[in-house]
Amino acid sequence: MAVKSEELDDSGTLMYPSRIKLPYTWHAGKVGSRFYQEIRDNCKIWGTRCEQCERVYLPPRETCPRCFCDISEWVEVGDVGTLLTYTVVKYAVPGIQPQKPPYAMGIIQLDGASTGFMHLLGEVDLDSVGVGMRGESLTGAGVGVAIGVAGMSPLSDLRGQSDLFGYRLQTSVLGTADEIASAASLLMGQADEGRPAVLVRGAPICLGEGGARDLQRPEEQDLFR
Ligand SMILES: [Zn+2]
Repeated sequence: MAVKSEELDDSGTLMYPSRIKLPYTWHAGKVGSRFYQEIRDNCKIWGTRCEQCERVYLPPRETCPRCFCDISEWVEVGDVGTLLTYTVVKYAVPGIQPQKPPYAMGIIQLDGASTGFMHLLGEVDLDSVGVGMRGESLTGAGVGVAIGVAGMSPLSDLRGQSDLFGYRLQTSVLGTADEIASAASLLMGQADEGRPAVLVRGAPICLGEGGARDLQRPEEQDLFR
């Protein structure tokens, strides 16, 4: 049974305040190490996929908590996800918080993953954060994007098709127009290359309707607007 310090005050027991210094090393483990190394070295986010229940775990797990089977398959997930839940932190606790309050923390389910993971919601308007919003992670550099599209479908919906291993794609919708613009931007350069235009031939596009507006996320689903 615990003894309250007030009770000891009257007992004559000698007390002095102290803190336990406890140095320790945290080991990320085999699976965790690969997860962090891929983000650090290649800016890619990988999860692991259970062969039995087909759930993709992110952060990756070595064992499926549902099927209790070992997991060895790694799958790359998207860097865009949906906010499942969140909280806005307003109370300051010095020394343990990632930044000065107020800030938001949320659980994000990245496209292609079956689970969510907790992360700081950076650069968001705290008054407009909401469950179901969409947001990007990791990428912070500039890329070429399509500001106008005509004569082709700006999106390629791959849902229902198979990937290299025969698995059915469930979330993959490509921004084809943006991908072409990014490739062109790479050739045009951003400095003194002196190449004002790029003609792209043979790109895998679908002729059709649509415009650049289709590439934009609806405002109510945009985490950073
Ligand atoms: Zn499973």
